[in-house]
Amino acid sequence: MMIVMKQAASEEEIAAVIARVEGAGARAHVIRGEEITVIGAVGDREHIGRLGLDSDPGVDHVVPILKPYKLASSQVRKGERSVLEIGGAKIGGEHFAMIAGPCTVESRDQTLSTARLVRESGAQFFRGGAYKPRTSPYSFQGLGVEGLALLAQAKQETGLPIVTELMDVRDLEAVVEVADVIQVGARNMQNYTLLTEIGRSGCPALIKRGFSSTLEELLMAAEYVMKEGNENVILCERGIRTFETAYRFTLDLMAVPILKEQTHLPVVVDPSHAAGRRDLVLPLSLAAAAIGADGIIVEIHPEPDEAICDGPQALRNDDFPAYFDQVLKAAALAGKTVSADV
Ligand code: PEP
Ligand code: MN
Repeated sequence: MMIVMKQAASEEEIAAVIARVEGAGARAHVIRGEEITVIGAVGDREHIGRLGLDSDPGVDHVVPILKPYKLASSQVRKGERSVLEIGGAKIGGEHFAMIAGPCTVESRDQTLSTARLVRESGAQFFRGGAYKPRTSPYSFQGLGVEGLALLAQAKQETGLPIVTELMDVRDLEAVVEVADVIQVGARNMQNYTLLTEIGRSGCPALIKRGFSSTLEELLMAAEYVMKEGNENVILCERGIRTFETAYRFTLDLMAVPILKEQTHLPVVVDPSHAAGRRDLVLPLSLAAAAIGADGIIVEIHPEPDEAICDGPQALRNDDFPAYFDQVLKAAALAGKTVSADV
C-alpha cells in the first residue's frame, strides 16, 4: 500500500501516519520526493486497509501496489527515477556511470595501474573481485582479505568508489570496510540470507541477474535488500541462458526498457560476462547504452592474456579510454551523460 501525502502535509501528520502503519504491524518506508512525501506501507494488506488511512489528516490518497515487489516498484516513485549518489558518483536518471576494472584483483601492480587508468579516463567506479564465484572449486578463488587491502589502496590513491563481490555473509564486515557498492553475483541472486544482511548493512548493492532468473525474480531480490531499509540498489543484466550455443550467454537487452517500466532503480549492463569474448564487448556496450542503460560494468586488464580469470573477455587497459568515449556517445543518444563529482 502506498500512502501519498498532500504537498502541504506537515511533519506531524507524516509522523502520525507512520505511527498508525507501524501500529498495525507493518513497516513504513518514507520516500521524500521533491514535492510530495510517499509512505510505503509493507505488511498485511488487510490490516493496513482496515486503518482507513485515506481520511487521515495530511493524506491525499492511498494506492494499492499490485506487484509482488513493492519498494522496488516504479509505482512508489510515481515515475521519478532513483538517482544514487555513491562516493562522488551519481547513477540513475540522466546520470550514466562506467564501472570498470579487472575480473579479479591479482596483484598490487595490476590493481593500481588499472585503477589509475580508470580514474584518468573519467570513469565513475572501480570494480575488482577479492572473492570469486568460480565454477570449478580448483580454480583461483580470489585473494580474499589480501585482495580487499589492494582495493582499499586503489580507493585511497584514486578516490574511486569500489564495487566488489560478497559471496558469504561471514565476509560481510571485511567487505563493507572497503566496498562502496557490494556486488551480488549472478549465482547468489537468490541467496536471501545474503541479500537480507546486505540490506541491513546499509551498503549500496549491485545485484546481477541470475542466468536463469526472470526479471520479476531479480526485482524480488532487490526487494529483499530494500525491505531492510537499504534503498541503494542497482540492477544488472549480465546475460541469461538460452538454447543458443553460439555464444556464452544471451545478453537480454530488452530487460533494460522493461525493468525501467517496472522499477525506479538504476539498471546497468555487463557485456563482458554475457559475451565471454573481447570483440563483442564494444558493440554490446553501445547497444546497451543506446537502449537506455544507466551504466556499464566492464572488465579490463593490463595484459588480458596473463589474466588469472576471464582474460578472453577483458578489454586491454590501453583500449579502455577510446572504448569509454564511444560508449558515452551511445549514452548521449539515450539522453545520458556522466555527472561531475557530487
Ligand atoms: C564478475 O562480475 O566477475 C562475475 C563473476 O559476474 P557474474 O556473477 O555475473 O557471473
Ligand atoms: Mn569476471
